[in-house]
Amino acid sequence: MERLERDLEFYGVSRRDFLKYCASFAVLFGLSELEFTRRLAHAVEKAERKPPVIWLEGQDCAGCTVSFAGLLYPPVGAIILDKLSLRYHETLMASAGELAESVYHETVKEGGYVLVVEGSIPSSDDRFCLVGGRPFREIVLEASKNATCILAVGACASFGGIPKATVSKGMGVKDLVSGKPIINLPTCPVHPDHLVGTILYILTTGKLPELDDFNRPKMYYSQSIHDNCRRRGHFEAGNFLQDWNDPAQKDYCLFEKGCKGPMTYADCPIRRWNSGTNFCIDCGAPCVGCAEPGFYDEMSPIYTAESEASRKILALKKSGLI
Ligand code: SF4
Ligand code: SF4
Repeated sequence: MERLERDLEFYGVSRRDFLKYCASFAVLFGLSELEFTRRLAHAVEKAERKPPVIWLEGQDCAGCTVSFAGLLYPPVGAIILDKLSLRYHETLMASAGELAESVYHETVKEGGYVLVVEGSIPSSDDRFCLVGGRPFREIVLEASKNATCILAVGACASFGGIPKATVSKGMGVKDLVSGKPIINLPTCPVHPDHLVGTILYILTTGKLPELDDFNRPKMYYSQSIHDNCRRRGHFEAGNFLQDWNDPAQKDYCLFEKGCKGPMTYADCPIRRWNSGTNFCIDCGAPCVGCAEPGFYDEMSPIYTAESEASRKILALKKSGLI
């Protein structure tokens, strides 16, 4: 436990906070708190050679990078990330130009790294996304060859996201790469807990988490937003918010304001965002369905119930399935 003790001291994390953090993941992984902490400590101790990571950015807004950077606070997340060797990340790396590119090529040649992809890949014309003059499609194929697994972070890299609805017809990693384990971590942006939890799972168990039909870890994406929504009673009672400015309607269901919660699977209502502060629906905004493959096209228009997704939800409601 020596190295772990040193890390806790270095990052100014109390043992109590660390154990609390471990407990939240232990439940998800189906392990006792003691067993999880033991495995984590073991993973930290044996991290002689930090697992290398290459992080590529294609058709993205770097919002997933910002979400990931948020992990540096609280510092418990930083302890986990410190066990990784982030070799290449266009936004975060200090080096640039030939030096950065040579690190990338050396890492690809060595193999055995985790490949993280942020942003989608154009499917209509490679010229929509060139990095250093090379098509992003070519770079993703090259980097995936020697990767042990691929984490597609955010809606864009998972299913195409917003760029899928544009002329570039962005696609997700799974639409391009085959024969590699691919884990999709959609939502726009990626939830930092989903990312660190998935990395933790791999580090502490040595295997990939169980995935659903869309390659999302079941531990985060198995329940619908609707099932855990505190406005659900109003949905059942037919109390749908019409006027944002009427205080009497402030807790009403947001379906008629475009909420896609009934067909969106993610743990936002439980996990919440910004270190557990809040999430879209509790701020009075409809769920936009960013964890689903149909985001963005199928979910728009966002603020009315006229989208394809809303029509599907209505049909399910009429047939008594929700
Ligand atoms: S998923 Fe959202 S936050 Fe992430 S790169 Fe795409 S648009 Fe940006
Ligand atoms: S439709 Fe949206 S706001 Fe209404 S209960 Fe379902 S998830 Fe909550």
